[in-house]
Amino acid sequence: MVNYMLMITADLENLTDLQPQGGCDGPNFTYYFKLKCGNCGEVTQKETCVSLNETVPSAKGKSDTNLAQKCKFCSRDGTVSMITGRGRPLTQEQAETGKYAPLMLFDCRGYEPVDFVFGSGWKAESFELMSHPGENASQSFVIEGTKFNDIDLSAGEFANMMRRENAPS
Ligand SMILES: [Zn+2]
Repeated sequence: MVNYMLMITADLENLTDLQPQGGCDGPNFTYYFKLKCGNCGEVTQKETCVSLNETVPSAKGKSDTNLAQKCKFCSRDGTVSMITGRGRPLTQEQAETGKYAPLMLFDCRGYEPVDFVFGSGWKAESFELMSHPGENASQSFVIEGTKFNDIDLSAGEFANMMRRENAPS
């Protein structure tokens, strides 16, 4: 069994704590990506969408999954299940140093998720850094925290990657 952690980073420019509108585990946030068949290697033509509030019963009658799909080419069944509680907002510090923040963990059977697409429905907080007028001028303070809602990231500077994680069996 292989899990995939979706990792993101972005050019935040005085913004911090970038995350989906309802938080990393927000039930209405939709993730769009393509699926690569683990059997024949074919990649789906269109993006597939998964969200936490949409579940389908898995074929073997175990726990529900968020997506069940048959490969169009080799007809193999595959599922994608979302695992909550692992995402963290992307902070300014991480963004500045080129680090990625984990967003969502996917338990993929039969498929490999590829080409995640950033859409709308993100939120972040603004802040301004002010240098301390005293002795230590390099020290900075956060003086403002305006919340920005419903940010559209479909046109911006961002990047993502899928990190393969071997789940404990
Ligand atoms: Zn296939």
